[in-house]
Amino acid sequence: MKKRAVFCEECRDYVAYTVAEKHMCGKIKEQEYHYIGKEARCADCDSLVYVPDIVDENLKALYDVYRKENGIISLDTILAIPEKYSIGKRPLSLMLGWGEQTFSRYCYGDVPSKQYSDILLKIYNDPTYYAELLENGKDRLKSDVAYRKTKKAVDDLLSINSDSDSKLNIAIKYLLNQCEVLLPLLFKKLSIIFRGFTMLLIIPIYFLRIVKRGYMDLYIKMCI
Ligand SMILES: [Zn+2]
Repeated sequence: MKKRAVFCEECRDYVAYTVAEKHMCGKIKEQEYHYIGKEARCADCDSLVYVPDIVDENLKALYDVYRKENGIISLDTILAIPEKYSIGKRPLSLMLGWGEQTFSRYCYGDVPSKQYSDILLKIYNDPTYYAELLENGKDRLKSDVAYRKTKKAVDDLLSINSDSDSKLNIAIKYLLNQCEVLLPLLFKKLSIIFRGFTMLLIIPIYFLRIVKRGYMDLYIKMCI
C-alpha cells in the first residue's frame, strides 16, 4: 500500500512510500534481540525513507521482545493499571513511594527494573495486593478525592471477585447436595436392574436342571 508523503534523500523530493514487514535485529544492553519490524521505502526509487511513526513502532516491537524474554511487564499492562484502579499516573507513583514521574516514564516506554516490574505485575493481577498498598501509602497521596476514587474502584473489584467466589461456592454446594439426593436413588435403580439380570440367568438354569432330571428319571426307568 502506498502512503503520502515523506522526503526521499535520493529523489530529493516528497514521495509516496510503501511499508513492508521485515525480520529485524536490535541490541539492548549488549544483547541481540530479533523481532518483526516494518520498513518504509520510496515508491519511486525504492530507497529506505525515514518515517517517525514506523521508527517508533519498531522500537516498541524491539522492547516488547526484550520485555518478553526477560519476564518484564508489557507496556500494555502498565498502561492498563491506572485505568483498572481509577488512579492517575503521578498519584499512583507517589502512593507506591516512588518518584512522582517514575510511573509516567514507564507509560512512555521506559522499561522498569525486574523488581519494579514484579510489583507492577502483582498490582495488575491482584486487587487485594493493591488495596494493601493503597492503605499503607494513602498518606502520600496529595488529595483525598484521588484516594476515595481509587478506593472505590478497588473495593468494586474486590466485591466482584468475592461475588463470583460465593457464586462458585453456591454452585459447588448445589452439586454436592444433588449428588447426596441422587446417588442413593441411582444405587437403588442399579440394584433393581441387577436383580432383574440375575433372575434372567437363574430361571433358564433351573429350567435346564428340571429337564435334565426328567431325562435321567426316564433313562433309569428304561434301564430297570
Ligand atoms: Zn526516492
